[in-house]
Formats: sequence, structure tokens, C-alpha cells
Amino acid sequence: MKRFFHIAALALAALLLTACPEPIDGPDDGSNGPDETWRKQASSTKLSGITYQLNVYSFADSDGDGWGDIKGITQHLDYLDSLGATALWLSPIHEAMSYHGYNVNDYYSVSSKLGTEADLKDLITKAKAKNIDIYLDFVLNHSGSDNVWFRMAAYGDSDRYRDYYVMSDNPTADVAAGKIDNYAGASSPGMGQWYAVSSGEVGYNGRLHFKLDWAKKTITVTQSTDTPQSSNGSASKWLYYGDGKMVGFYETSTNIFEITLDFDSSWGFLIRTSTTSWDNGTKWGGNGKGIEFGTAFSINNTTAANIIFGGNSSFYFASFDQSMPDLNYGPYAKAAESAAFKDLAAAADKWIDMGVAGLRLDAVIWIYQNQTAANVSFLKQWYDRCNTSWKARGGKGDFYMVGEAWCDNAEKMAPYYEGLPSNFNFYYWYTLKDRIQKNKGNDFASTILYFRSLFRGYRTDFIDAIKLTNHDEDRAANDLGRDIAKEKLAAAVLLTSPGKPYIYQGEELGYWGNKGKGDEYVRTPIKWTRSGNVPSASLGGKVDNAMLSADISVEAQESTPGSLLRVYRDFAQARNAWKALAQGEIEEVSCPNTAVALWTMSYEGQTVLVAHNFGSGTPVITPTGYTTDKLIVSNGTVTASNGSVALGAYASAVFLQ
Ligand code: MG
Repeated sequence: MKRFFHIAALALAALLLTACPEPIDGPDDGSNGPDETWRKQASSTKLSGITYQLNVYSFADSDGDGWGDIKGITQHLDYLDSLGATALWLSPIHEAMSYHGYNVNDYYSVSSKLGTEADLKDLITKAKAKNIDIYLDFVLNHSGSDNVWFRMAAYGDSDRYRDYYVMSDNPTADVAAGKIDNYAGASSPGMGQWYAVSSGEVGYNGRLHFKLDWAKKTITVTQSTDTPQSSNGSASKWLYYGDGKMVGFYETSTNIFEITLDFDSSWGFLIRTSTTSWDNGTKWGGNGKGIEFGTAFSINNTTAANIIFGGNSSFYFASFDQSMPDLNYGPYAKAAESAAFKDLAAAADKWIDMGVAGLRLDAVIWIYQNQTAANVSFLKQWYDRCNTSWKARGGKGDFYMVGEAWCDNAEKMAPYYEGLPSNFNFYYWYTLKDRIQKNKGNDFASTILYFRSLFRGYRTDFIDAIKLTNHDEDRAANDLGRDIAKEKLAAAVLLTSPGKPYIYQGEELGYWGNKGKGDEYVRTPIKWTRSGNVPSASLGGKVDNAMLSADISVEAQESTPGSLLRVYRDFAQARNAWKALAQGEIEEVSCPNTAVALWTMSYEGQTVLVAHNFGSGTPVITPTGYTTDKLIVSNGTVTASNGSVALGAYASAVFLQ
């Protein structure tokens, strides 16, 4: 049985060699051959190098706690290098409220679940040794509601953080009066809503000073660092804040009662004048509105509602959900002068200083509620600020920054190039999957050319961040009917297109999953070995174990010729070795076969011909004026002779000219 398999494998290998010529190494004199050095240039890396997008919490777990971590990434740098990565986009690494990290509690921190600052420094250093840059995901539209900035803005008694968020006592009136800068003049937001500050936060945990003015029937509460007091057992006024939680006030002057204590209540507090009875008006409370620190608050013994910690303003605005209050940068033309901008820039400086070479900006169309001109102005100020820090710290070339300006179409996204050097091209994938589904390749080069012309209209040195899917989309495999041949074609097209390709964690293995079952199912951990477990604690165990078979693992696909992973590697390495393939300017080559996409890429005297068959047939094409004898890389069945080439189903080939 074993012997038979060996002979069969040899026969298969011979067949493949016949059908698929060995890729060339290039001429010995190196004049027009693969160039191992151009990729090492910072400018090349940023313009056209491959970026791998990974979820830190689910990529690789170094310590077995079920959470992917930064050390796990460092341990797998060889894997990322083998995929041709010149940069890694890390999901948010800061302390945050959720596993995914997009509701940040502290922009200056590294989440303890993911590692330490030392781990990040180590990753940056070791990645740099392989010419791999580190990009951080930076969330500028909103923070988490547990961020100390928001807590101080909403509940604190200092004015310092009040303007960090979009807050109002009367949103309707303030919007009508044009006082809500976040709307940038619009009368309503494009997304999101106002939330009552008190709705999520009625209690409080911390040291407080209570001052009761019995003549005026008011209570004033302030945050305190004074030594807490024990209860006055012979008091006439009592502070009640839960079962078994009642302390007596001290009368410090006539009708003034005070106490300092470590307060902890999930619902607020009441004043009592009796320790034994709630009757006959002995319970004093509020009117249902939240108390503000430092401000005298009227109490009564008729409604006597719980006195809640309602906060400084009645409402705050959030584009996404209640746990993500939108940050406020004031009038957009002067955003860089706002306190929130300056604080976030200081945080970015910390990471740039550590060696971070780029930022991915989340949800940029919502910073000013889908107001393109306002967002573009803001982003330009943000980019210039970070680029100045980058250069001041000796960074080569310009700082890299890519925006998630996820608009309805490419035409609406394109103006964002006036603010940022790079933006995700969601529309590239929308078109590519449509054409693969329809077996129609012969207008794909013109689609790419259209995008490039569109973007160039806004920025001559635009960097088109092309991609298949990301952590917020159904997997490419789902879109392609889990047809592995089509998935390989999509990979080959991505890595032979002009622009800066992004590969999302798991796409290279053919992961499937859709958001309908939960976002976790498109954020599945990498299965490194055939038999190993994946770190799923961060995802609450929401992984598709049926998908995570031994065969889909990195270990299995590395040792299987023609696997999807091997196709990714072959094309990635070709892109990194042949400068025309990466950095070349694209020209369409007309092709009579509707299934075939055909184009050239040319750079510094080097030209390659790129051919992809989007169909299931075997077209034979003869591109006039081009040679097909020097194959650089291929996928599927490719037979070339005398200037013509037969492309098997969903096959791809790149020829040096
Ligand atoms: Mg871990």
C-alpha cells in the first residue's frame, strides 16, 4: 500500500511538472531577475508590501490561558515571514472592555491579557529584524465607557474631561442650535443615538464626602482622598446605601451634617432620620435625576426616589453602542487643538516612540457623523501630527496610516485620500467576488484601473489597501461557496494586483464562517498543528470545531503541495522577489475570452504579464506582443508554448517579459 502510494505520487509529480513549468530564477547577471533587496526598502514596504491582519486575542497563545497574546505572535514570525508579510496589523492591544478591544479603557496601556509593553518591544525588535513593521489599530471615534476619561467626564467633579465626549443636557435643542460639533452641521447623526448618562451608571464605588445641609434640604457629594470615618452611632441623620449599609452623620455645625466613607452601592443612596422606620416622612431622597459631584442636590421626603449618580450631563452620544461613547474633537477645523486629540496624540507618540511604524484607524467616517469634509480635515490633522512624531524620532520616509472609511461605494470613500495616505478598498473584494461568481475576468483589470484613477484624483501618492475580507465580514470562502479552487484564484489575484494587499488571519487556510452566527465565527484562532487545540477562551468558546479539522491546520497545509496556504506563499514570495509584480504600474491587455483577466505590471524596466482564468473551462490565449516562456509563478494547470498559454480552471500565471 505504501509502495503503491509512492509510485502514484511520483507519477502525479511528473504530470504536474509537465503541465506546469518550473518557475524561473531569473538571469544569472541579475539584470532583470528577482531582487531580494528591493523589499527591504521602507518605501517599497509601505507602498506595496503585504500586510497580515491578525487578531492578537486569537492568533497564537504562548501561555496556554486560551487568549492569543503578543508573545504568541513573536513565536510565529517565521510563519508570517513565509507569507511574505512586510507588516502586521494588530487588533487593538490596549486595556479594553471586550475581547476584541474596540472599546478602549486606556490608550497608553497594553492589555494584561495580551502581554506587556516589554512583549510588544520584543515583537517590534524581532519583527524589524525580518523587515516586518508593526501597525497598531487605533480607535479614535470612541472609547470604552469604562475609560477613566469617560468616567471623569460623566461623573467626575473636574472640568478637565468634560469636553472629551459628546454630551448634552438637551440634545434636541443643542443639535438645533449647532452646538454639537460631532454632527458638523448636520441636523441628525448618520448612525448612533443619545444615551442617558444615568442609564448605565446609577451607583458608585469609591471614597466620597457627603455634606447634608438640613436647613436648605440639600446634599453635596464630592470625591475625596480624606481618611474615611466610622459611623456616628448617636446621629440624628443617617446615610443609607444598602442592606446593612447605614452610617450616622456627624453634625459639624448647626444643621450641617458630614461624613467621609468608602462608598459602594449599585443603586445610589437615601437619607434617613430614623434607624427603625421608613414611615412618617423619615426617608429623604431625590427626584429621579442623577446627582452631580460638587453640586448641591435637593432632597425631599415625598417622592424620595433613590439618589443616583447620574453624572454631569444628562445624555452622551454614541455611534455604535452604549459602551462606546463617541469622542469629541470640537469644531473640525481646529480638531488638533482639542483636549481629546492632544491626549490621544500623546498616546500615539508613546507607541511611535517604541517603534510602531503605522496605525490602522477604525470607523473614521463616524468621527464627525458621516460628514466627509469634516472627517477628512480631522484625519489630515491627525496624520500630520503622527507623521511629525515619526520623523522627529528618526523614522524613514513617511509614517503609514490606513483608514477604515467604509462607505457605500468607492466614490464616497475616495475623498478620504485627501486626509490619509492609505484607505481600505472594500470595493475591490466586492467586485472580485462578483466576477469570480460570474466567471467573468476580462473587465477586472479595468476595474482596478478605475479605482486607481478615482483615488489618484484625490491624492497622487495614494496607497490602495486592497483586501479580500476582514474581521467584520463574512469569510471569503463563504462568498465563494467554499470552493477551494476559487479561493486560490482570489488569493492569486490579490497578490498580483497593484496596491498594498492585506491578508486576514485564517484566509490563507481557507477558513469559513459568517457573522450571522456571531462575530467570533469570523475571528477564529489559527490551528497551528493537526492535533493541537486552539485558544478559544477569548472568544467564549465560539469556534467552529467542525471547520478546525486536522487538514485545515498550518501543519497539514505546509506539507501539502498545492494547498491554499502554499498558493498564498508562492504568490507572496513572487511579489516580494519581482519588483514589477509589486510596485508596477498596471496596464490592461485585451483578451477575447471573457473569463480571462489579463494585465501587465511594469516598474524600473521590468515587466510581467499576469493572467487569471475566472472560469471553469481551459481557455488558450495568445496575447499579442507578449512572451509566455518565462514563468515566475503559477497556480492550477498552466501549459505555455510559443507565446500562447492554456489556463486550466481558475488557474493563474505570471510571466516575465
Ligand atoms: Mg495567552
